[in-house]
Amino acid sequence: RTSVVLFTSDLRLHDHPPLRAALGGSERTVPLFVRDRAVDRAGFAVPNRLAFLADCLRDLDAGLRERGGRLVVRAGDLVDRVCEVVAEADADEVHMASDVSAHAQRREERLRRALEAAGVRLHVHDTVTGAVAPGTVTPAGSDHFAVFTPYFRRWSDVSLRDALAAPRTVRVPDGVGSEPLPSRYGVPGLSAGLATGGEQEGRKRLGAWLRGPVAVYEERHDDLAGDATSRLSPHLHFGTLSPVELVHRARRAGGPGPEAFVRQLAWRDFHRQVLAARPDAGTADYRTRHDRWRSEREAREDIAAWKEGRTGYPVIDAAMRQLRHEGWMHNRGRLLTASFLVKTLYVDWRVGARHFLDLLVDGDVANNQLNWQWVAGTGTDTRPNRVLNPITQARRFDPDGGYVRRWVPELEGVQGRAVHEPWRLPADERAALDYPDPVIDLSAGLARFRQARGR
Ligand code: FAD
Repeated sequence: RTSVVLFTSDLRLHDHPPLRAALGGSERTVPLFVRDRAVDRAGFAVPNRLAFLADCLRDLDAGLRERGGRLVVRAGDLVDRVCEVVAEADADEVHMASDVSAHAQRREERLRRALEAAGVRLHVHDTVTGAVAPGTVTPAGSDHFAVFTPYFRRWSDVSLRDALAAPRTVRVPDGVGSEPLPSRYGVPGLSAGLATGGEQEGRKRLGAWLRGPVAVYEERHDDLAGDATSRLSPHLHFGTLSPVELVHRARRAGGPGPEAFVRQLAWRDFHRQVLAARPDAGTADYRTRHDRWRSEREAREDIAAWKEGRTGYPVIDAAMRQLRHEGWMHNRGRLLTASFLVKTLYVDWRVGARHFLDLLVDGDVANNQLNWQWVAGTGTDTRPNRVLNPITQARRFDPDGGYVRRWVPELEGVQGRAVHEPWRLPADERAALDYPDPVIDLSAGLARFRQARGR
């Protein structure tokens, strides 16, 4: 018997149920990755993620080769390419992970039908791309939870399957050719400080994280300058790390830090179960609030200042520059910059979400769109009209101003927390700084938002 394992957002060998099932039931297995043209066409193939993906595919191929196998890469329509490889390998079955986006759900259905027509069975495995699959826990009378806290309670009670070891050997049938593996060196327009992809790198980071910093995660995760979060999000996005394994290992570590970290992993599953039930929430408002956002034309200059990190609010500018430089941004920065765009500048959340997706290495439909909706108050936040003040937030989460000085060199010489309000400096000091005035008065922005929401 011969099987095909289709890798998608699960680019790893450890804890990989589709691979385990395929190897258990057949003598030969084709590990396949298809560069799906529909994903490219939808604008998701941006330089930072393509480069990270290239690292992941090379690392996966290297891991398979150590075990006697190799990775087969094809590009085009995913369904056509899988059927082509199935025919070439004369395969009896295909294994893959389930996923939650509208595109992933449609694609899975098309693939199932095409394979069935060829007499080949598709096995779809849950708990590969998330720890607790959508639909595992539901509230009375609905197919998904719309509020995180009750979801988390039920999520915490789910008994997770054990994590699986990586396979020892993989035997690939002869005669199934591969396109060349992509390389990050061929990708133009990368963020200079982009992280490295691949399972080996992910496991190294995870080990280092669990050996030390996770212990103080609860106290320090909001400290912008301390940069004390795991930075595992790109590895979770590409599946070089298994969410099930992460939860098990963090729970074994125990204590308030690992517990707080596990809670964040549950947020990931929370957004996934919302998107699985409401695939339109990737673009449409999850809850209608009748917002009449400023048009992109009207807000053009404000949007440009926001994207380029020159709004005149130092913490906002620091975070937006971090995004551009690293293809990643601290969660507190994401909250502040999103709130600023939507609620202070009164711009549609979709404009900001698109910009984040253009740059984020962990850019993800479920997490990005639903976090944006959460901040915009069109999503699952139970306090949809809260507005984050960039000055008080900066004083609280960057008390010494270290984060701002790291990313906004124009303000390097301003000491302490004064860096958060350069307009308050003595006139001669202010005049010496090559840094813009605020694009908007915060109270004017707040008044506009409150009026618009009828508060
Ligand atoms: P840690 O604090 O170490 O958390 C561990 C893991 O938990 C993360 O890697 C992530 O997988 C998960 N997690 C943490 N916070 C959240 C959250 N609020 N929602 C869902 N999962 C979470 N995360 C993405 O992975 N992709 C995105 O595209 C994305 N876009 C966002 C957009 C906005 C406007 C906001 C406010 C948040 C967004 N997040 C997104 C969530 C969060 O900011 C990132 O997951 C986190 O900053 C990644 O850093 P980390 O791995 O160090 O996180």
